[in-house]
Amino acid sequence: MSEKIRVRFAPSPTGYLHIGNARTALFNWLLAKGNNGVFILRIEDTDLERSEQIYMDRIMDDLRWLGLEWDEGPDIGGAFGPYRQTDRLKIYNEYAQKLINEEKAYYCYCQDDELEVRREEAKARGETIKYDNRCRKLSAQQIADYQARGIKPALRFKVESRIIELDDAVRGRVTFNTDVMGDFVIMKGVGGVPAFNFAVTVDDCLMEITHVLRGEDHLSNTSRHIMLFEALGYKLPQFAHMSMTMGPDGGRLSKRSGAVSIAEYRQLGYLPQALVNYLALLGWSPKDDREMMPLEELKKIFDLNGLNKSASIFDVTKLNWLGGQYIRTAPVAKIADLSIAYLQKADYLLPQVNEQQYNWLLKMIESIQDHLHCVSEVCDFADIFFPKKDITLDAEEEKTLKTPESKQVLESLGKNLAQSSEITAETVTDIFKQVQNQTGQKGKKFFAPVRLALTGRPHGPELTKIIPVINKDLILKRIQRWIGGK
Ligand code: GLU
Repeated sequence: MSEKIRVRFAPSPTGYLHIGNARTALFNWLLAKGNNGVFILRIEDTDLERSEQIYMDRIMDDLRWLGLEWDEGPDIGGAFGPYRQTDRLKIYNEYAQKLINEEKAYYCYCQDDELEVRREEAKARGETIKYDNRCRKLSAQQIADYQARGIKPALRFKVESRIIELDDAVRGRVTFNTDVMGDFVIMKGVGGVPAFNFAVTVDDCLMEITHVLRGEDHLSNTSRHIMLFEALGYKLPQFAHMSMTMGPDGGRLSKRSGAVSIAEYRQLGYLPQALVNYLALLGWSPKDDREMMPLEELKKIFDLNGLNKSASIFDVTKLNWLGGQYIRTAPVAKIADLSIAYLQKADYLLPQVNEQQYNWLLKMIESIQDHLHCVSEVCDFADIFFPKKDITLDAEEEKTLKTPESKQVLESLGKNLAQSSEITAETVTDIFKQVQNQTGQKGKKFFAPVRLALTGRPHGPELTKIIPVINKDLILKRIQRWIGGK
């Protein structure tokens, strides 16, 4: 057996968990959990200006909600901690010092404005824009001058001219020519904060990460990571750069293309199982092309070979399809429990739900369960069941209801329902048959007026399922509206 798999999800707490990074978390989790490995949560908060505690808390909360618990992390610790980069500053400085001692890194006194001018000049000359490494060769006197002037240096890593070859698990062989890059900054200031690439690499080394599975947007950084791994004397992990997820228009994934934060999907009442299943299909496919796969199942079948090279497209229709599949297979009570908050917020239910209401709610949910993609959609159907407001119809629908044939259907339906002591799916089916026989109206001529009068919609949940749930007086009132006035 080879070494134990250790992977990490390393979000920067500069925003909420979104589709892209949740997918990265999921694939890392699957790789670990499917192979008896370790899934680590590392918080990369060295961008002090943009990192916020609230985002860190929310990211952790959303990961837990998705079912992606970690084995080592900032809240639970572990043998390789701390797991929050700002708690590791001493470690980065220690390793920076090691590179200085080995003459693999040096202090650079060039200031941002000077660097900017030089970049502009290089651009004007049509040259590659890169740092010209001038501080590599500073004399002791020059250094003393800078120090005397109080100029704050940054620490740069010495890049040697070479070709770097990377065997990426997704992209195959990738080569980088280091001639296009200058020596790069690894520490901002003396005893200061590490640059992103340095912190990532030090952590991946010390946390004994075996697989670095992340978005393709980090591929260009990988040449720097490889040089640093080698300079620090550590074995390279297996890199796997996943293709990006794009919006349906082929552009960047954005709110406009339907991709919002995980928190927003959570708020809408998508089941986490559906979301996780959907995320798994973004850029990965199982050998048998199945689509509905719960997390436990995914864990067994996920492998890096199934990662696609080409970009995936975010498709909200598919997410909704999966959302619906998971809702219809969930226990009614679970959906009912989740629906209460939405119905209360929309003033359909009072803050206290008594037992009788709850039992009724179970029946109501059962009658519409197959039509929901996320639990908040329960409010889209609520007006069918609650007397809160009158059913509204457009002019065309009203016209359908005002024909003599429709009136006849509704009149007969009203009479039959009024006479029926018990209203169940079976009695409603019988009553429908009777009304059809009595009026001679069948198919659309029968169902269109009944559906419109009772639900205010041309399509929707099965009438035999919803009629027994709606209060009988309310049904008769809705029918009366179209046959009254005689
Ligand atoms: N902190 C980086 C990000 O949020 C991830 C770095 C990595 O996975 O190597 O994009």
